Amino acid sequence: MLEKLLPRDLFAPAAGAIVLAIGVLLGALFFVAHRADAEARTHEEAVLANGFNVRLAEMATAIATHVRQERVLRDRVESADAAWTHAALAVPLAASQDVELAFLIDEDGAVAYAMQMGAETRVDAYARFGWTGDRLIAAIRAVEAGVMGERPAERAQPVQSSALASTEDGLFLVTATLLSNSRLQRAPVMVTAQPINDDFLFPLADRFLLNDLRVQHGDVLLAAQRARAPLTDAEGTIIGALHWQPRQPGAALLQTALPPVLVLIAALCAVGLALYRRGRATADNLVASEARATHLAYHDALTGLPNRLLLADRLGRAMEDVRRRRTPFAVHCIDLDRFKDVNDTFGHQAGDELIQLAARKIVSACRTNDTIARLGGDEFAVVQIDTDANGAAMLAERLVKLLAEPMDLSVGRVHIGGSVGLTLVTEATIEAQDCLRQADLALYRVKESGRGRFCFFEPEMDAAVRFRRALQDDLHDALAKEALELAYQPQVDGTGRIVGLEALARWTHPERGPLSPALFIPVAEECGLIDTLGFFTLRRAFEDSRRWPDLKIAINISATQLRMKDFVPRLAELLTQTGVDARRFELEITEGVLLGDDPVTHNALTQIRELGFTLALDDFGTGYSSLSYLRRYPVDKIKIDRAFITNLGVDREADAVVTAIVRLARALRLSVIAEGVETTEQRDRLARAGCSEVQGFLFGRPAPPETIDALLRAETETDAEAPEELCAMARSA
Ligand code: C2E
Ligand code: CA
Ligand code: CA
Repeated sequence: MLEKLLPRDLFAPAAGAIVLAIGVLLGALFFVAHRADAEARTHEEAVLANGFNVRLAEMATAIATHVRQERVLRDRVESADAAWTHAALAVPLAASQDVELAFLIDEDGAVAYAMQMGAETRVDAYARFGWTGDRLIAAIRAVEAGVMGERPAERAQPVQSSALASTEDGLFLVTATLLSNSRLQRAPVMVTAQPINDDFLFPLADRFLLNDLRVQHGDVLLAAQRARAPLTDAEGTIIGALHWQPRQPGAALLQTALPPVLVLIAALCAVGLALYRRGRATADNLVASEARATHLAYHDALTGLPNRLLLADRLGRAMEDVRRRRTPFAVHCIDLDRFKDVNDTFGHQAGDELIQLAARKIVSACRTNDTIARLGGDEFAVVQIDTDANGAAMLAERLVKLLAEPMDLSVGRVHIGGSVGLTLVTEATIEAQDCLRQADLALYRVKESGRGRFCFFEPEMDAAVRFRRALQDDLHDALAKEALELAYQPQVDGTGRIVGLEALARWTHPERGPLSPALFIPVAEECGLIDTLGFFTLRRAFEDSRRWPDLKIAINISATQLRMKDFVPRLAELLTQTGVDARRFELEITEGVLLGDDPVTHNALTQIRELGFTLALDDFGTGYSSLSYLRRYPVDKIKIDRAFITNLGVDREADAVVTAIVRLARALRLSVIAEGVETTEQRDRLARAGCSEVQGFLFGRPAPPETIDALLRAETETDAEAPEELCAMARSA
């Protein structure tokens, strides 16, 4: 849209228009100059033609004047008098008027006298001018007939005629002058010839300020730029021309005006070009910012990867490909396993850095045609086109492997790991959005079963999710009705005496019957019910604790619960409300809670202990088992995970681990308890390793408070008398 408005596309026509305008301007300038030159030349030509004629007339008049003066002086020669003509007319005229040749033609037309260059010469010299002379004389005779009888003195004008003549020696002005006549008869005529040469032209050039004025004899071709005035003979035939270099005001104008005009044009072009460039840069910026806005709309700002919107588009296309060309594709959903810990511990900047690093790793594992999108948080998706089950599994495995590698952030090295859920789409039987949901379900399955793996979508996962959703609703109702119960499991010391009880949540579903907390606790965490459930357990355990004033009650606290900001104040409030002593309770947390050295968690744990509670580290040995956590966190007890106990006597390593954990606990001055003790052999091995406090089916299953009451009563009654019997009772509970 915007690109259509780009000056880039306007440039060609605009530049064309400018070039045309410059062309027209220069053309007009040249045209005007040319016109000015042409006009100046025409003017000069007209002026010179006129001036030339005037000059000829002057020359003729000078001759006439001289003749007339002589005539007045000596009014006697009526017929041809050669001697007088020579002395009074020809010689003085040759001297003063540049007359080169002079002839006296008598009344009958015969040449009576001839002079050349001031000296008398043969009369046949006239032959050269005869043709012109005869025509001039004829004209004079015609006039003479008209004026005959007048006194010469009364005559205003001399009778005279002149014309140009072309001879071998060049051009001449031939003038015929009537030597006066007062009688009724013809008078002789004097014919003079004056050369039209440079001497003649000098004054003319001077007078009219002409440059390089020359005379041209005959019709030789003249250079085009020369101005000219044609010269004609007595009958009007062109016999030559005067020519000169005309003034060229236009050319002069061009010469002075053109450089500044060209400079001006160049400057305008430069300004235009600069404006165009700026305009284009602005437009380019606009296009770029539009592109940026579009990019932002379809990409994640942090990683630059496509976002959900673009992913949906690519999924649609992949779906289209399956429909048309039957090329299967895979959708992978990727979740970083311990992202939240890093984010909580090192801050958002480290979290961002981790996301970017993970994004790069994911991109590096994929092909260029695949679409890698960030869905938000620590979730990514890959649309792997044109693949099969094998190819999809290979990519998923590669992703898991890459994400399992340690990542170096500016805050240090972290191990996070990633889980991948994927689905292979071979037929266009589902909607594009469903592919993503399927991959997400598979991812969910991975997360549920321990993370750090990949898992293909299977149709039964859909059912599982529906089940979970229904379970969430039911749990919500159950909590509202306080339909949950607590079971207590005894914890015994080395002598078999009950020293504590672990409170464990129990839920009997109206349709499904008793459900394991291993199933509904994660559901509660997922849908935000863990807070309600957690405080239900705490309140109920606090209340039940009054039944057993001598026993310590252990209560499980989930990591999600502990991260809630108001957990500690609400816990303190509950203590006040129920009026119990915190020192009688032990809160069980898992190692995951401690991961990442989160100051908020650290604080919460410290405050919990300040309230009087003791802290036990549950499922010890299965998680990250970092010794440094143990040293740094205010923990009182560690609870060796059931997995090690089960393997006691089966797996040598288990014995070694248990021994090591007990030593460690002792070194750190922590109490230690073993859970999941089911056999006497396990109990004995634990005792040998130094762990005397135990919990497990061997001593009692989790049971309702009434059963615990009975158990305790039996314990006091029989006391050390029949411990085996007691155990049998507890076991059956
Ligand atoms: P846990 O804290 O590790 O609790 C011990 C689990 O092991 C209990 O399962 C208990 O019944 C079982 N158990 C005890 N002795 C033996 C034994 O000798 N053999 C075997 N096979 N199992 C034994 P339960 O009650 O199903 O609880 C499962 C998990 O649910 C608990 O593991 C705990 O993490 C969680 N949970 C239970 N109640 C609550 C609660 O109120 N709040 C929270 N946050 N979590 C709870
Ligand atoms: Ca526990
Ligand atoms: Ca446990």
